[in-house]
Amino acid sequence: MIYVTKSSLPEFEEYAAEIKEIWESHRLTNMGPKYELLKEKMGALLSAERIELVNNGHMAIELALQALELEGEVITTPFTFASTTHAIIRCGLTPVFCDIDPVRCTMDPDKIESLITPKTSAILPVHVYGQICDIERIARIAEKHHLKVIYDAAHTVGETYKGKGLGAYGDLSTFSFHATKVFSTCEGGGVTCSSDRLSERLYTLQNFGINMDAEVVGIGMNSKMSEFHAAMGLCNLRHLEEMIQRRKERVELYRKALADCPGIELMPEQEHVVSNYAYFPIFVHKEALGIDRDQVCAVLYENGFFARKYFYPLTSEFPCYQGKFPIQETPVAHERSTQVMTLPLYPDLEEENILEICRILHSLGKQRRIQV
Ligand SMILES: *Cc1c(COP(=O)(O)O)cnc(C)c1O
Repeated sequence: MIYVTKSSLPEFEEYAAEIKEIWESHRLTNMGPKYELLKEKMGALLSAERIELVNNGHMAIELALQALELEGEVITTPFTFASTTHAIIRCGLTPVFCDIDPVRCTMDPDKIESLITPKTSAILPVHVYGQICDIERIARIAEKHHLKVIYDAAHTVGETYKGKGLGAYGDLSTFSFHATKVFSTCEGGGVTCSSDRLSERLYTLQNFGINMDAEVVGIGMNSKMSEFHAAMGLCNLRHLEEMIQRRKERVELYRKALADCPGIELMPEQEHVVSNYAYFPIFVHKEALGIDRDQVCAVLYENGFFARKYFYPLTSEFPCYQGKFPIQETPVAHERSTQVMTLPLYPDLEEENILEICRILHSLGKQRRIQV
């Protein structure tokens, strides 16, 4: 079975050498030397003025929301992973769902302003699949209405937009270093910002509210990154460029092989963006193909390929949210979520597997044409 992703690992010896010092220092966690070094390197990679490393990408979002001391409503996208919406609600805020741009699948800036009410305190868009949101327009809307902007940039490690890492944008941006992401510390995440005050708040919140002077100044939690996780990050970071290059080669192969595949729509590449090739989403058009996305997934599965219905359903359609608060209609996001699937993609995915997947997708359209 070929899965949709496969976690990148350094050579065992490389990791063993990296963690050897931990046995010498007995520093296992609490902002040790591995953490400090990774923090410096990630700050540079993400073009962040300030960065805090934490135990996962989900806590990164909750910390960002708490650091801003937000109240009321947060305008966000339902076309994302569960974490984004859960974080808003777990922080006592109300999500207000904005529809998406059909091409990029990111928040549609034309639809933000009509959702703003006196209770709105922030906008939380997602750079979904590493597609970058309309950062300039969102910044203008936020400024006009005095709103904060937090980007869920979980998918963007290793990418640049207009020459900068994605830690350079928004009031805060959050990142995931989960095992399934392009850059991994097994579990891990980061929050970037450009304000000293916010970065101090993030630091204390992730450490029980204890500040640099050992005073408890906030009702914090424990979301620190351990030395073992930081060590994995230091190893994986050495290979990140090569891993992205390998992903790029695989995406180019998919693009070439699927360029003229009836019923299969690809996402166009984005201007000003150097991609990390984190995902390869395709959209299935039932009218042209004769079968729908679920059936395409099933056919691939029968052939040993596990594609993912990512992101389906919309977070606003989750059973756990029904009846909890008014949920806005987002017809574009709904339609895209019924068409989309992500194909297997990871740095050592074999070329023949990619070609086989593409051959299956082409044959689906051919069967249809013969029937017609
Ligand atoms: C992975 C992911 C998260 C959560 O990150 P974890 O490190 O798994 O906690 C949040 N948002 C999006 C869009 C993600 O894909």
